[in-house]
Amino acid sequence: MTKVFITGASGFIAQHIIKLLLARNYEIIGTVRTKAKGELLRSCLSPTDKFTYEIVSDIAEPGAFDHALKKNPGITYVFHAASPCFFETTDPEHDILIPAIRGTENILSAIVKYQPEVQRVVLTSSDAAIYSNEDEINSKLSFNESNWNNTKYEDALNDGITAYYCAKALAEKYAWEFMLKNIPSFGLVAINPVYVFGPQAYGVPENLNASNELFTKLLNLGPDEKFDNEMGGFIDVRDIASAHVFAIDSKEAVGRRLLVSNGQYSAQMILDIINKHFPQLNLPKGNEGTGEYDTMNLARVNNSATRKLLNRRFNSLENIVVDTVSQLLDSRKNSKAHL
Ligand code: NDP
Repeated sequence: MTKVFITGASGFIAQHIIKLLLARNYEIIGTVRTKAKGELLRSCLSPTDKFTYEIVSDIAEPGAFDHALKKNPGITYVFHAASPCFFETTDPEHDILIPAIRGTENILSAIVKYQPEVQRVVLTSSDAAIYSNEDEINSKLSFNESNWNNTKYEDALNDGITAYYCAKALAEKYAWEFMLKNIPSFGLVAINPVYVFGPQAYGVPENLNASNELFTKLLNLGPDEKFDNEMGGFIDVRDIASAHVFAIDSKEAVGRRLLVSNGQYSAQMILDIINKHFPQLNLPKGNEGTGEYDTMNLARVNNSATRKLLNRRFNSLENIVVDTVSQLLDSRKNSKAHL
């Protein structure tokens, strides 16, 4: 029986990874912050008996994962998905930088101490580790898997967005440096997703995760309301979950950073798709058809190395939007939130 450990199991992306792992009949140990979250997640899974949870209320605490890893011998694969994934805070250092970085330090040191049989660690990093929030919107720049966001810790203390980008970069840098310094027996793979959108694996929570919040914002617009034309890279959560599983299957993935993106979106492009498929919602039209042109203001992203390695056709923005909105509308209709 293959045993897998996943941190932040109640999270949006982690739940999709768990879904794929359960389909393989793996035994899964997930960390959650509270018993209530663990029980709720367990009640949604099938088969339930393949999933147990350990409570790690704060990944930043010294030795946060020691107890959970000591207690569950024989783990083969570890996914580290827990990390603050939001921008709004009055204390970016405490709420974002410290947990992202210490969480990564804690999981890696606990594996080395208590789980000698681990073969692969998959770190959920981010495109934020590749470029800074400022560079992402500089159309003169171009990025690929080899680039790094070099924002300094002390320059990231005052603003949540800069802190998030910097935290993801420093956490991932720490992981690669850890590998060089300790030469552990496991291989490391970093997954660097752009904005991850898509339906929930196990029912719609009251508050959507940070990236999917865009859908809530757009669906709540009045017909003549103005909206912020947010933009960035996009990818389907189901493609991201598959990339994580690929990272444990593929020897070629070891030592690599997978910049998983299927192109760039703007809120206008998403609105156009919603208006095409769900005209009854009567959302604003904005400047219909111009969204793709807007994304020319973003830096170019070349992830051909990742695409070649994954050898997978990613889900289109249209499919992502239709699946996500359909699920949200269904859940509103039934007002039956699970997680
Ligand atoms: P979620 O917020 O849904 O998941 C994050 C998980 O981490 C939650 O289970 C959360 O628990 C847990 N967590 C956060 N901080 C702590 C902490 N201090 N102690 C213990 N647990 C903690 O976000 P996603 O699923 O979207 O993100 C998962 C990973 O993917 C993160 O590493 C994120 O940076 C990365 N990522 C996400 C992208 C996206 O667009 N969604 C894009 C690129 C990377 P709780 O909910 O109980 O607070």
